[in-house]
Amino acid sequence: MSRTILVVAEAKGGVLRQVSYEAIGAARTAAGDGGTVAAVIMGSDVTRLAGDLAVYGADCIYSVDHSALTHYHPEAYFAALQAVMQEVRPDGVFFGHTAWGKDLAPQLAAALGAGQISDVISMDTDDSGELLFTRPIYAGKAMEKKKFMSTPWIVTIRPNNIPPLAAEAGRTAPVTAVAYPEPPLAAVIREVVQNTAGKMDLSEAKVIVSGGRGVRSAEGFKPLEELADVLGGAVGASRGACDAAYCDYALQIGQTGKVVTPELYIACGISGAIQHLAGMSQSRVIIAINKDPEAPIFQVADYGIVGDLFEVVPLLTEQFKQALQ
Ligand code: FAD
Repeated sequence: MSRTILVVAEAKGGVLRQVSYEAIGAARTAAGDGGTVAAVIMGSDVTRLAGDLAVYGADCIYSVDHSALTHYHPEAYFAALQAVMQEVRPDGVFFGHTAWGKDLAPQLAAALGAGQISDVISMDTDDSGELLFTRPIYAGKAMEKKKFMSTPWIVTIRPNNIPPLAAEAGRTAPVTAVAYPEPPLAAVIREVVQNTAGKMDLSEAKVIVSGGRGVRSAEGFKPLEELADVLGGAVGASRGACDAAYCDYALQIGQTGKVVTPELYIACGISGAIQHLAGMSQSRVIIAINKDPEAPIFQVADYGIVGDLFEVVPLLTEQFKQALQ
């Protein structure tokens, strides 16, 4: 079965987010033999990114490039997306399960009266060739497989789960400029204040070193930052650490924070409450460092180190430094 699939690509800080490439990979599977993977890029000065979408497998690219799209704005971006939908009329649409995707996808589903499956981590087909989408439920304790009964459909994919296609250097695709429809906006953005500027996005980080109440202070995060730097990763936190004002809530991982699926998650001084596990238990490899051998985090850890994090973390940093030299 061949389908036309649209990928809503996302740019941040002038570069495409990794999840956009992963969405193209998912779209290629969904499009089937002879199908078409279209991608849309929206923003200001973003048409120059179209080439990267082609290299990673998009067959055609639509660009809505306008100064009104400099910052993400739900109404403006939705109007731009609808203009592209008119041109492409896809059977299915993929978004990243990111702040943008979680905002735009339901707007589109509601406008189209379409079904939506969110936070998908893998895809396959049933005996009749219908697409099946797998997503975690009950805070990752179970998986459900769902399929759509009608088109168009909408899917958001969790970053770091569906592999992108291999880059094909020199691959090109036609780029169509779509005019920004300049809709009347009920709200305008006056200023954007970034308190995590320059820091790696937790949801896409391959390595996360996370601290809990056991770090005891903001200063206590320093050794974790050093370990994350050596591993090229990001620093996360439990709500315990955020509530104690050791770090910003932007770092919180869990049920009411970010859901992450890195290749390596190092939990330092985190007890392993169910609400924390909800945000990190799908990580590929989990290392827990805790001085309490009975801490529940050890039940989900692949490797457990019973000890004082202030002794263990600097030792790990030193070892990784030497190993990675
Ligand atoms: P604690 O439970 O206090 O654990 C600290 C751990 O550090 C202990 O295990 C201790 O043995 C260890 N420790 C102390 N000193 C050291 C040391 N020097 N070296 C090594 N280990 C040490 N929590 C989240 O994380 N994310 C969420 O999204 C979230 N959402 C929630 C939503 C709701 C509705 C509710 C009710 C709670 C939520 N929580 C969430 C809170 C959650 O229940 C826990 O309270 C919280 O995760 C505990 O944080 P913690 O593990 O850092 O602290």
